[in-house]
Amino acid sequence: MIMPPSRLCVLAFLLICVIIPGRLAVAADAAFRAGAAQVDITPPVGLPRGGAYALVRSVGLIDPLHAKAIVIEQGGEKAAFVALDVAYLPRTLVVAARKLIAEQSGIAGERVMISATHTHSGPVLTRGNMMDEVTGANTPQVTEYMGRLATLIARAVAEANGKLVPAQASVAKGREENLSFNRRFVMKDGSFSWQGPRLSKNIARPAGPIDPEVGIWHLTTAGKTAAPLATYVNFAMHPTVIGGNKWSPDYPGYLARRLAEYFGPEMLTFFANGCCGNVNQINVSWAGNQNGPNAGERVGTMLAAAVFRALPELVPQRTFAPRVRSKLVTLQRRTFTEAEIAEARAMAPNIVSPSHSIPAKAKTVCILDTVANQNVPLQVEVQVVAVSDQLAIVSFPGEMFVELGLALKQASPFPHTLIAELANGTIGYIPNRSAYPEGLYEVVSARGAAGSGEQLVAVALELLEQVKKP
Ligand SMILES: [Zn+2]
Repeated sequence: MIMPPSRLCVLAFLLICVIIPGRLAVAADAAFRAGAAQVDITPPVGLPRGGAYALVRSVGLIDPLHAKAIVIEQGGEKAAFVALDVAYLPRTLVVAARKLIAEQSGIAGERVMISATHTHSGPVLTRGNMMDEVTGANTPQVTEYMGRLATLIARAVAEANGKLVPAQASVAKGREENLSFNRRFVMKDGSFSWQGPRLSKNIARPAGPIDPEVGIWHLTTAGKTAAPLATYVNFAMHPTVIGGNKWSPDYPGYLARRLAEYFGPEMLTFFANGCCGNVNQINVSWAGNQNGPNAGERVGTMLAAAVFRALPELVPQRTFAPRVRSKLVTLQRRTFTEAEIAEARAMAPNIVSPSHSIPAKAKTVCILDTVANQNVPLQVEVQVVAVSDQLAIVSFPGEMFVELGLALKQASPFPHTLIAELANGTIGYIPNRSAYPEGLYEVVSARGAAGSGEQLVAVALELLEQVKKP
């Protein structure tokens, strides 16, 4: 059939309407590129594991540990994110890895955010304090592993950088109310208690909230195929599920397995822990099993379900060249009485004794570390990366209390604010100001004076306001 000229004109007009904006959209998408890669960092069996106040040598492997990297680029500017399956990140490792990344991938150190997932079934790393002696972190094997780890982190970033393809970023907020629990409690007599005890009739209520938000930043290839590249999942809860002495990424590993089953093995699940200093997986009113690989499977699967439930809410982002700000902040150290210092010195020689509780050990280490470094500034880094008008990622240098994360999200000018704690170094626990008088494990081991957490939140907000503007 031959079309009359008028119809041809209409057809041509329609084609122009459809194709030209489509082309413009494709051109805009093409400006944003993303790449993702992971590298195996599983330490040799026999290396001590982290997250314990004793020497605990690993005796096997449940699942391998990884350095996972996402690199984004737009307008010639890049930013890189790395998540490591380790309990914490010494600043020395961050500095070494960033140097290699700058040399190998041309991404400046201050544009690289490296965070620890906080798995308690990962290796011990050298921190430069008295715990190194206790945990075996000062041995040549650990030093050798840490040197290799910097190389492996840089390799993950180089591989992600080498795989940059035109991409589309989307964001959504999932919600999971029934997975995480504040681990500090107010007892019926008005006192405070740490970690329960489970099934205790004396618990009045949790001492603080949780953050049920599951932040999701999903990356696909651009265009119609939209092949999944990576899913950045942000949730605030201690990975203390597995326990024991075999290597495991803890529940983020099971989360990654579930998402890979759905999106395919090529898609990288990147897990960043939010402000979970006082939040773990233990439901104190449930007698059921909450530790070990079975429990890890349950927890990771529930978190994956929260991601799946939120997929219909994914909103494609109009990205811009990543805007990065990084600031070094000096915090005030805590002060201790002469009596407290004397008590810590008396306990130090037999700190490994099982007769001492974990909080007692933590307090002694904190006091002696503070005394030894009282003339050294307690300097930490806060970093933000804005990807779009809607999405920014913030890093904090330790285990922030959940109240601080909630406060930051509430005040942030970005509706989707993801938070990676234990990033770019660590000073251990960072409680909110009102928790200090309550004491307990996290507070007695905190290096910063009361108000340090609020100071870091204020700096993050200042940086977020800066990156909100072009
Ligand atoms: Zn912790």
